[in-house]
Amino acid sequence: MHAYADLVEKNKRYLWNPFTQMKDYFDRRPVVIARGEGRRLIDIDGNAYWDGVSSLWLNVHGHRVPELDDAIRRQLEDIAHSTLLGQANVPAILLAERLAQIAPTGLTKVFFSDSGAEAVEIALKMAYQFWQNTGKCSKSKFVTMCDGYHGDTIGAVSVGDIPMFHARYAPLLFQSYKIPFPNRYRNPYTSSDPAFGALHAVEELFQREADQIAALIVEPVQGAGGIVPAPKGFLTGLRALCDTYDVLLIVDEVATGFGRTGRMWACEHDGVSPDILTVGKGLTGGYLPVAATLATERIYTAFYGEYEEFKALYHGHSYTGNQLGCACALANLELIERNRIIDHVAQSARVVSTRLNALRDHPHVGDIRQAGLMIGIELVEDRETKRPFPLTTRAGWRVCWQARELGMLLRPLGDVVVFMPPLASTVDEIQEMTSILCDAVERGL
Ligand code: PLP
Repeated sequence: MHAYADLVEKNKRYLWNPFTQMKDYFDRRPVVIARGEGRRLIDIDGNAYWDGVSSLWLNVHGHRVPELDDAIRRQLEDIAHSTLLGQANVPAILLAERLAQIAPTGLTKVFFSDSGAEAVEIALKMAYQFWQNTGKCSKSKFVTMCDGYHGDTIGAVSVGDIPMFHARYAPLLFQSYKIPFPNRYRNPYTSSDPAFGALHAVEELFQREADQIAALIVEPVQGAGGIVPAPKGFLTGLRALCDTYDVLLIVDEVATGFGRTGRMWACEHDGVSPDILTVGKGLTGGYLPVAATLATERIYTAFYGEYEEFKALYHGHSYTGNQLGCACALANLELIERNRIIDHVAQSARVVSTRLNALRDHPHVGDIRQAGLMIGIELVEDRETKRPFPLTTRAGWRVCWQARELGMLLRPLGDVVVFMPPLASTVDEIQEMTSILCDAVERGL
């Protein structure tokens, strides 16, 4: 048994945490997780916390799920890993088949990787090379959304637009066209219908530049941009414009896929199928790092030719198609279906929405946004003018620190408090977590 102080000392000496201001982290008594139990995380001293952001938006059923633990153990008896480069393995083939069966229409080919950012890198290279392989070499640029987030690798950052995370790396990035996202609360357009404004801006750009544009990439709900759902019809409009101007549509469902928004895929709410879909996070139920980029036959065919044509997609990682991860993902998808998780999310989302009514008149709650069990509460200094708090107020963190005191771990996005409980949380658990959330907002501000 390790003592807390000893572990924190070793953390200080050796471990560099991601997206973490290290001094501030150590100043605030870090939480050191020892184990998980259902929807809770238990620290080294035995304190239990609700996993209020699903261990960074990915946990589906909870922790220590017998079916997932067993699937990994069974796979371990055969093999842990062999490469997918130039050869295959059983769980990777079966998982590709299963993903193609449940994917939006037309996405029949599955290219595996290990993280959401990699799935995005692959989508970008796939789209770029699709046009190279089909002889339209000028189509090499990307259109992306302001405040978009697609991961932290250089390609993914190039199509991202969150100033705090991305601006300092600008000299390392390739340029992409940026379209303001149709955010209802902070409408960047003169039109009162932000989706109309955004579609109009995309169309103007396509009219001028479509012969230079490989693809448009979009999140159906902007995640790291502050949990901002696209207005209904926006993806439908983008699909139509991409068809008209022969631009590929990449939908990034790394955060929204596998039931998070109350449908298997968020793009289903609009009845839209992209040309390329990126998935990750919930794919293994929050257990192991597996992600995937799904593509249509049209795209795959452009990479299919005689050896001497060298049409292959030159991309692959050491652990791509890892058997333990794929076996776990298969068990996760089976459990999502057997336990009717998607219906359950729709029901739980209604419970959250009702409970959050308690916050709707709070003087510092500017907006409450929700897509299924993806919830963002935007805190503002002034409700009337929507003026944000000064950065140093750390309003989002103040609420999250209170939540931790009350027994739930949260992580804000600036002044947006994010609440994303594991999808299988029971209604009672959801009620308890939402009560803590409301109390934390009251106490933190
Ligand atoms: N795309 C979206 C929409 C995301 O929300 C994220 C992560 O939050 C990523 C990509 C990157 O995924 P990963 O952290 O697994 O690289």
